[in-house]
Amino acid sequence: GGRSTQPGGLRSPHGWQPHVSGALLKKRDELQPVRMALPIWPQAEPIRHALRRNNVLVLTGETGSGKSTQVPQFLASEPWCTKTIAITQPRRVAAISLARRVADEMGSLFGSQSPAARVGYSVRFDNATGPNTKIKFLTEGMLLQEMLRDPSMSQYSAVIVDEVHERSVNVDLILGFLRNLVSDMARDGKKRKAPLKVVVMSATADVKGLVRFFADGLPSPSGSANGTLDVPSTQNKAEPNPLATDQISTCFVEGRQYPVKTIYLPQPTLDWTESSLKLIFQIHYKEPLPGDILVFLTGQEVIEGLEKLVNDYAEGMDKEIPKLLPLPLFAALPQQAQQRIFQPAPYRTRKVILATNIAETSVTVPGVRYVIDCGKSKVKQFRNKLGLESLLVKPISKSAAIQRKGRAGREAPGQCYRLYTESEYTGLEERTVPEILRCDLSQAILTMKARGVDDVPNFPFLDRPPREALEKALMQLLNLGALTETGCISDIGLKMAKLPLTPALGRILIEAAKPERDCLHEVIDIISALSIDGSIFLNLVTEERKEAAEEARRELYRREGDHMTFLATVQQYAEEQTDRKAWCERHFVSHRTMQNVMNIRKQLRQQCQALKLLSSPDPPGPSENKTEAIIACLIRGFINNTARLMPDNVYRTVIGNQKISIHPSSVLFGRRLEAILFSTFVFTNKTWARDVSAVQLNWVEEAWDGMM
Ligand code: ADP
Repeated sequence: GGRSTQPGGLRSPHGWQPHVSGALLKKRDELQPVRMALPIWPQAEPIRHALRRNNVLVLTGETGSGKSTQVPQFLASEPWCTKTIAITQPRRVAAISLARRVADEMGSLFGSQSPAARVGYSVRFDNATGPNTKIKFLTEGMLLQEMLRDPSMSQYSAVIVDEVHERSVNVDLILGFLRNLVSDMARDGKKRKAPLKVVVMSATADVKGLVRFFADGLPSPSGSANGTLDVPSTQNKAEPNPLATDQISTCFVEGRQYPVKTIYLPQPTLDWTESSLKLIFQIHYKEPLPGDILVFLTGQEVIEGLEKLVNDYAEGMDKEIPKLLPLPLFAALPQQAQQRIFQPAPYRTRKVILATNIAETSVTVPGVRYVIDCGKSKVKQFRNKLGLESLLVKPISKSAAIQRKGRAGREAPGQCYRLYTESEYTGLEERTVPEILRCDLSQAILTMKARGVDDVPNFPFLDRPPREALEKALMQLLNLGALTETGCISDIGLKMAKLPLTPALGRILIEAAKPERDCLHEVIDIISALSIDGSIFLNLVTEERKEAAEEARRELYRREGDHMTFLATVQQYAEEQTDRKAWCERHFVSHRTMQNVMNIRKQLRQQCQALKLLSSPDPPGPSENKTEAIIACLIRGFINNTARLMPDNVYRTVIGNQKISIHPSSVLFGRRLEAILFSTFVFTNKTWARDVSAVQLNWVEEAWDGMM
């Protein structure tokens, strides 16, 4: 086929308001030349061709080459594509911002703005799709949830798995399930009416490994008729043809990459804030505009700290000097704020994007010529001794460092300042270890069991997790009552798998619905407060503000601990009818976060109703004192997260006997209690329990006995 100018193949949906569609179409037409300039544009036809021939395509291409935005549009008008296209993202930020972008490019509304919207998204606690959604961006977790309800994925014509190189646990599970599905389709065409097309996309994937992974699941081709492959010219010819290569297509999109100069620090540092600050101003004074700066940092706190410093210093700059505009970018940032990073810098202004590794591949920030890389990122790490998972700041891998550096050379030659020495770089691991090899697997296994995978060790894993980790997770699920003695999923387990919560939180919710506990509404409030990124209480910098906040929050604080404090906060906020914003200001509570909490609370109530845990969405009248029942539910889920005070005044975990301290952010900080339960575990220089409740040791013991 010839090269068409409109790979998106837009069919106009019915029922549009003419004035709305006029503005939308104008935007679409403006974006058309931008799309056509993307490196992936010339590959539209080969990509379509590949999927007409085969059910699986492995596509690699540099970040920014146009994979996520264009590939779904290339496929939307294919004859086989009669249903929706799903495209997964590891992060909700990316899912939402890509949906918005693709809607603009197609001249469509997006999300739930109108029933006519052709592009939608689905992320945890926020489903914005409609009856006409053709392209649906969703987080990996949401696709897994859908797979539980509809194992053959009957509502989709294609599933595009994006950002596979990040190798989240969820992506590994999705790939395993899809491989089974593709393999079933090849053996028994009746499983689905029409074949499901699978596209696996990544920036830096091991193409050979992925092809083999899918090929291994297919029946051996009869005969060896793979001599004359009718392959598009983009086929990666360097790959040898294993077993069923002719059934798996590959495509490689060459990105644009200008040279990027690397500058190392002469001496190691740990003060990224100070080093970044110096470099930002050094670049700003020395280098001409345009040229934005992208700084890779570890997390929200560091980012917000640096943002404030840049603003403070920029205020003192000479009026002759162009302005500096710091823009934070992290997962918990609200939508509007994230959208700002895509807008070009205002006149005579340099953008400084302060980002987590979200900007490494997931989100393409235009205009960047300077990268500052702290060389670290926060990763999930399972601590075997404790049997607990925490986020740890760890050195990135070489391949991540190369990705970060590459961000500077998208539009012009650039510079990358690494806040580490050259020999530190040489010592980095080649690749990032896949999450499945270093995280708590209980949620993953619960999902598999709920999906009918009985033989977990023989599931098609891209990387097989260690046996010990699998066993730990199975034991944990058994303790939670999610599995039966024989390792089958229980009714409770099935319910837990359908809740968008970790197994521990899911178990707590189910416990709270029992008639003898009768505290589901209260527990939903607590879980909602635990489910947001960040904290409901504002992070205060000055001592003065801290003291004022202590005073103002006194009426919210509960001596039983943080969970009851969260409950009091949510309840009081919900009761406040006149001015919730003012209430938040008075109590030094984040209004934005509380709005999120209320949204999650609403959705959890709906889900509890759907699972028949809750008969009415409205809470009963004023709740009597249910503290003991609530704490009992918390213990049921967090039995692994308990610690007792030893004679030397040190808390030690009940399992593993490890030292642990109450985090300064807890209302119980500094208290000596017989025993504690914690829902979050933080490991920095020390092991911290965050979000803590006081418990009695005999409650913990009873809970253990009850399980045995
Ligand atoms: P890839 O998936 O290969 O990394 P994308 O399809 O995400 O590439 O991005 C292609 C182009 O679209 C990039 O230049 C990027 O800046 C732009 N883009 C993506 N999302 C948005 C958005 N929400 N707003 C504006 N531009 C965007």
